[in-house]
Amino acid sequence: MTSEKRIYLSPPHMGGSEQKYIKKAFDSNWISSVGPNIDAFEKSLGENLGIQHVAVLSSGTAAIHLALIILGVGPGDYVIVQGFTFSATVNPVVYLGATPVMVDSEPDTWNMDPGLLENAILDCMGKGSERRAQSSGHRHPEPCALSPQPRKPKAIIPVHLYGMPANMDKILAIARKYDIPVIEDAAEAIGSKYKNNPVGTFGEIGILSFNGNKTITTSGGGALVSDNAEHVRKARFLATQARDKFPHYQHSHIGYNYRMSNIIAGIGRGQMEVLEERVAARRANFEFYKKNLKGLKGVTLNEEPGREYYSNRWLTTILIDPHKSGTDREKVRLALEDQNIESRPLWKPMHFQPIFSSYPSYVSGVSEALFDMGLCLPSGSDLSSDDKERILDALLRCFK
Ligand SMILES: *Cc1c(COP(=O)(O)O)cnc(C)c1O
Repeated sequence: MTSEKRIYLSPPHMGGSEQKYIKKAFDSNWISSVGPNIDAFEKSLGENLGIQHVAVLSSGTAAIHLALIILGVGPGDYVIVQGFTFSATVNPVVYLGATPVMVDSEPDTWNMDPGLLENAILDCMGKGSERRAQSSGHRHPEPCALSPQPRKPKAIIPVHLYGMPANMDKILAIARKYDIPVIEDAAEAIGSKYKNNPVGTFGEIGILSFNGNKTITTSGGGALVSDNAEHVRKARFLATQARDKFPHYQHSHIGYNYRMSNIIAGIGRGQMEVLEERVAARRANFEFYKKNLKGLKGVTLNEEPGREYYSNRWLTTILIDPHKSGTDREKVRLALEDQNIESRPLWKPMHFQPIFSSYPSYVSGVSEALFDMGLCLPSGSDLSSDDKERILDALLRCFK
């Protein structure tokens, strides 16, 4: 063990003006769920993303939950989700009594595989066997156990995991072909771009997270964004207990308490002022690791697959091939831990999670291999050069 201070995976990093905005909220007594910080935070998010309508909410999970309700998801519906993700992508599907259908990743982006996506859609619609007959040679997963009542999935949720944009051209083309709305889970990807446009703005609805470990944080929070004014109006309505327009409290819908407070929005307002710097620092972390780990046998980093992809590099991740590197993911993690440095395995795919394993899934083995070999390295935007040298030292010793 070491007596040196702990280096965390992705700690909050305040910009400096957050407390000023919080103080303004106190001074004006805008303490609750309306106020100038909320308006300003929503406005700056909208401008940054180039999207018309934004509702800030209590969390990214709440935003996904509301997005699904707005798209009419209910009991018995199918929702196609990226299997390689954090559980918060999938949980809200189950809150609504719908069935998540999990789709594995493609090797380039680590995000939703468009080919498997189309297979999943066709199976849900009861047309899977037609396609299989047509396209011999393409490797198909085992047909999944879908219900005897074929129906079109109600939504598709790709994820921009670790900040890397998903292959949106192909995913959107398939979504359009079958006329299924896309909810983009951009929780990890504020600042990332696909073909020069911010992720979160390609689908019918996008969601963001401002949880403590994300690129910018409000301590906890999220947002639902859309160019459809009606979707965002509905999100606000549902997030504030679904009050009908009466002087008394009257309800004709089930509501939720999902709005962000004006205090919390003050933190977000301050964080927006440093968003670009935060993304630049995280991208610099990636470049540091790439430069210094280059040449290590059996170690690879996930490069941007082409000029269309611009990742915020929320977390830098490395793959450690146990057959080529002389070590493995877990040994490296423990060696870093021994130096008081936090690292973490990649997300364990949802189709391997005990709670989701009985749901249908389209699995190619890509995310399983990533989980087996992958490690998230410390990636905070406040890493000092001393911190980085300490991490590098500990890493390099693992490969001697
Ligand atoms: C963080 C995260 C969420 C959930 O956001 P919260 O604000 O923590 O509720 C959803 N999806 C992914 C991929 C995430 O990383």
